[in-house]
Amino acid sequence: MNTILDNVKAVQDAVAQAALRSGRQPEDVTLVAASKMNDTPRLREAYNAGIRVFGENRVQELVEKNAQGAYEGAGLHFIGHLQTNKVKFVAGVCDLIQSVDSEALVRQIGRRAAALGKVQDILIEVNIGREPGKSGVLTEELEALLGIASGEPGVHVRGLMAIPPVTENPALSRKFFDAMHQLYVDTAAKKYDNIDMCVLSMGMSADYAEAICAGATMVRVGTAIFGSRHYV
Ligand SMILES: *Cc1c(COP(=O)(O)O)cnc(C)c1O
Repeated sequence: MNTILDNVKAVQDAVAQAALRSGRQPEDVTLVAASKMNDTPRLREAYNAGIRVFGENRVQELVEKNAQGAYEGAGLHFIGHLQTNKVKFVAGVCDLIQSVDSEALVRQIGRRAAALGKVQDILIEVNIGREPGKSGVLTEELEALLGIASGEPGVHVRGLMAIPPVTENPALSRKFFDAMHQLYVDTAAKKYDNIDMCVLSMGMSADYAEAICAGATMVRVGTAIFGSRHYV
């Protein structure tokens, strides 16, 4: 059985190769270890193997593992669905909140960060596959939300995030990644105040190399690092 150390090395290699293939340097792509359902000792093992950013989905789990020192020395991102009443546990604690998709969240995060005397880096999540019931703004809603975030002093938009539909068809996945990259480039060209488009977060265990080739600057990888999650 592969160890976390073996897995981290293999994923880092594949990330570096995909970056080079897409005309960039390995350090231009950030590897986020999606660590949900893995306990603190396993996260420290990943850290010792070279992981320097963790991404968590669940607020409760993040709070517990943070208290145990799971993320020490590393960056911490929130990547899951966030309810406005849980913002206080995440804003000012995480380096980046990747999953912001409503005006209410932008305002609440901005208020909380401002109260702490901080500015919170965020990504806007886009529902690029237009899947009903899924998180993320639709492409036609993006501009309005960026306008709101641009005027909110407690937040700083750093880019876009997407979780494209699960598909067995690599060509179809590539179509969604390409669409996200185009949206990212078009949005950057609009040059909103207080918004820097420098992060495009897309790609998971099954397709992160594909996502990097389409222009991702950040990938979120869980299973390929930690092995399968056992849902109970
Ligand atoms: C769990 C998760 C990932 C990683 O998924 P894997 O397929 O295990 O690599 C990436 N992004 C988000 C938002 C996740 O919840």
